[in-house]
Amino acid sequence: MIHEILPVGMLQCNCSVFGDEATREAMVVDPGDDIDAILAILQRHALRVTAIVITHAHIDHIGGAAKLKAATGAPVYMNPNDHELQRMMPIQAAWLGTETPEPVDIDQPAKDGDTLTIGAAEVHVLHTPGHTQGSISLWMPSENKLVAGDTLFRGSIGRTDLPGGDSHQILRSIHEKLLALPDDAIVIPGHGENTTIAREKRTNPFLAGM
Ligand SMILES: [Zn+2]
Repeated sequence: MIHEILPVGMLQCNCSVFGDEATREAMVVDPGDDIDAILAILQRHALRVTAIVITHAHIDHIGGAAKLKAATGAPVYMNPNDHELQRMMPIQAAWLGTETPEPVDIDQPAKDGDTLTIGAAEVHVLHTPGHTQGSISLWMPSENKLVAGDTLFRGSIGRTDLPGGDSHQILRSIHEKLLALPDDAIVIPGHGENTTIAREKRTNPFLAGM
């Protein structure tokens, strides 16, 4: 599996491009900005996007989705519980002092237990609310990789002080859905460096005693 991680936009959201070597199908997760750079990666690997997945509707994760959808024709997946947050995009843009990005129509709901595919590889949708009500994480068993959005970071967890945030709920999501994954699973957070489930169990101060 081809996998490139590209930090995009002013908040350096980790956009992931996954591509299947056999079918050249690709999934792009969180195209927050810098769509030209994402398109260049797709072109370099001769990949065709079959799914655009949004881990949650914060502007730094969803901001470029309309542009990427227009360029590729691929359907956009997001959890319906974040539709309200998506409608707040002008407010989110004001928080950052940026322009409101072009709104994107969500084509498919991404709900807990759903399975997407990239070639033969399965991508399992885990609903992990707490950072936002519609936050999802993506578990790829064949790659032993978890794309965690802003739910779990290396040494930290997602903030819960924004609209839709819930500090008890995010801990429950991490405990029940993420820490249940294999210890050696690689975690790709929404910002910053990769980690593993084992490392976070051992050293993440927010998860002490879990
Ligand atoms: Zn966020």
